[in-house]
Amino acid sequence: MVSRCKVCEIDPDSGFCHGVVRAVDKAEEFLCGGGRLYSLGAMVHNTAEIARLAEKGLQTIDLEQMRALGSGDTVLIRAHGEPPSTYSLAGERGVSLIDCTCPVVLKLQRDIAAAWQKVSVTGGSVVIFGKKGHAEVNGLVGQTDGHAVVIEDLSEIDRLDLSRHIELFSQTTRDPLEYEALKAALKERTGDITIHDTICGQVRNRHRRLAAFAAGHDVILFVSGPESSNGKVLFELCRTHNPRTYWVEDPASLKPEWLADAGTIGITGATSTPRWQLEAVAAGVNPCGTPRAEG
Ligand code: SF4
Repeated sequence: MVSRCKVCEIDPDSGFCHGVVRAVDKAEEFLCGGGRLYSLGAMVHNTAEIARLAEKGLQTIDLEQMRALGSGDTVLIRAHGEPPSTYSLAGERGVSLIDCTCPVVLKLQRDIAAAWQKVSVTGGSVVIFGKKGHAEVNGLVGQTDGHAVVIEDLSEIDRLDLSRHIELFSQTTRDPLEYEALKAALKERTGDITIHDTICGQVRNRHRRLAAFAAGHDVILFVSGPESSNGKVLFELCRTHNPRTYWVEDPASLKPEWLADAGTIGITGATSTPRWQLEAVAAGVNPCGTPRAEG
């Protein structure tokens, strides 16, 4: 714990995104009724939040474990969404689903399925700018029977067949500036491309405001679990605008030397970082209980 009192501000735009809030609310509502609930994959990429939900009875399982479930069991589909094969499996096993796929992701899945239907007849490919193996991306690729090409950065453009039509989409949480760069590079090389702007509006706004928030404080404490890909992107964004940005998992990982001579400290986090964790870090910075926690 840091012994001197500091002026800190919690980023008013931080905390869970709408999709995650909705999924957590639905899980807690179900668990309050006393039922047993399984989550297919971690609800959020945040160990502390998973532990909090596990205490309420939420059990995280993988696809293999879901195969062993049957009628009477209930599985929650998290905000990232799932490929059609998961719904088929639930139907085969008689498992009930609480589908918490974020409406933004659901629309993206439907748009990709429609694009795939089109190019599979007329020729061409569906390209997704996203992280290979990420749950949301797996759900998106599933809309094309596994045929979509996933690219993670500009260096992978050469893998694409630019002689045929391309339908380009982005994972909802990608860096908007990187997507702009990819779009520009592809437009330079081919005119036969349809570009879909599918980065989540909340993520896009967050990027814009977070840059100003990071630049407006002497030190930024970025609170996130190590597994969050959105956390890594937002952390780098903060560090670009404020070199004194530090990754913090909990108040115990605060280092007094980070805060030396800092007049103001900004506390922010990933879309998978719950508000209570930001407040815990603020309390760690200001043990006498005087954080300027806004929002
Ligand atoms: S980041 Fe946006 S699209 Fe993704 S779950 Fe949250 S609200 Fe939905």
